[in-house]
Amino acid sequence: MSEAYLPRYLPRLREIRSVSEAHRVGTYDEIKAWLDHIKEHPLDCFENRIDISELNRELAEFFEDIDARGADGKLLYPIKQRIWKDLREFLIQRWTSVHKNELRVLDVIIENLCKDANVAPMLSESIFCLFGDADRSFYTLPSEYSRPIHLIAVPHSSIQNIWNWLVLPHELGHDMFIDIRQLANELEHLVVKALEPYALSVGWVNVPRWEPAINQVRWELIDGTQLIRELWTEWVFELFPDLLATLMCGPAYLMQLQEILRFDAFSWWTMDPTQRYFGGPDPHPVGHVRSLLVSSAIRRLGYEHHADALDERLLRTARIPATISWLFRTSEVEQPVLLFEVQWIELLKSGLLISKIILDTPLESLGQKKLLDFIQFSHADQEISETEARNILSTQQKNDPRTRARHLLAAARIAFESEPQKADTIHKVALSKLLALEAH
Ligand SMILES: [Zn+2]
Repeated sequence: MSEAYLPRYLPRLREIRSVSEAHRVGTYDEIKAWLDHIKEHPLDCFENRIDISELNRELAEFFEDIDARGADGKLLYPIKQRIWKDLREFLIQRWTSVHKNELRVLDVIIENLCKDANVAPMLSESIFCLFGDADRSFYTLPSEYSRPIHLIAVPHSSIQNIWNWLVLPHELGHDMFIDIRQLANELEHLVVKALEPYALSVGWVNVPRWEPAINQVRWELIDGTQLIRELWTEWVFELFPDLLATLMCGPAYLMQLQEILRFDAFSWWTMDPTQRYFGGPDPHPVGHVRSLLVSSAIRRLGYEHHADALDERLLRTARIPATISWLFRTSEVEQPVLLFEVQWIELLKSGLLISKIILDTPLESLGQKKLLDFIQFSHADQEISETEARNILSTQQKNDPRTRARHLLAAARIAFESEPQKADTIHKVALSKLLALEAH
């Protein structure tokens, strides 16, 4: 059925791909037509998972939001263009059965991870994956814009290397952060609380703010305490998913993270008024700090030896700079400007306080439970992952009865790091082992 319907739209879609983002908004009608059609002939992936009329209604609100368009009809927020593009890609991929197996496995992984994390059981019904741009990393779209469904983009370049899919528990953490009422607020309060007793050796710094009244940048002098607080209020949005992924997948998550992090001696403070982006510091914590915070969480779970080995690997491959410089870039100024420098150790010390408080504090938004109460990667979990890694390498298809998606994601990474020359086998075997979890 879907194949018969699709050709009428495909030529138009090809055309849309080649015109500017500005014209893409006009094609909302097509997406709506697709959804009307899905209502009559559900896609496999939607069955029992989503109310199409509700999705239709939300989409209409989302795309007809007048704030999203300027007088020329152009979408003002790049993020809305991104959401539109992903939604279109998502429907095309699900419709055409391109990468059918891989998408099915991604559905299985998400459902299985949501069950195990158990932080937000309803989430699994509205999270879908698609294969996104090959040159981008994995991402979940940010929360500031209400989204009809959650879309996690897996880069096309990762389609054949399942050991990189260990990023998925991190992306799931973003979706939880976004969807659990008051969680973001509570975590921001925790940042402030964690930093209260903290004696800083960061001085006064000048930071740029966008001032709408005068339509230009205003410089504000703030003290080190406020600066560190502002940085962590942004970064907690990455720290929470990192901690959740560590609790779900153990030391293998850090193996994965170290491969994708950048270990620069600088970070960005960005602002682009022409794109209506009034920004601030890079939302990702500095790479070295992020790696060491995850290794401290791994120690907390009882994997001293793994944490030491991964810290050593970090120090062998990336020199830790004494200070991190923040550079300001904006569409108004051609060259990046040095804003301030912070001693690297201050970022680590403050981060350790914050991750400890996140792990140990019962949160109202999580029903007065702490994150550690939901899931912890036990020694039995590590043993299952290591056994499955050996099974993958020896093409042993049968799963241990205790095996879950998180074990297989960790196992694929462990297998790849020990025998990268067997990449093809690892991908194929892990994919079919994950598929075998479908009914569980
Ligand atoms: Zn992230």
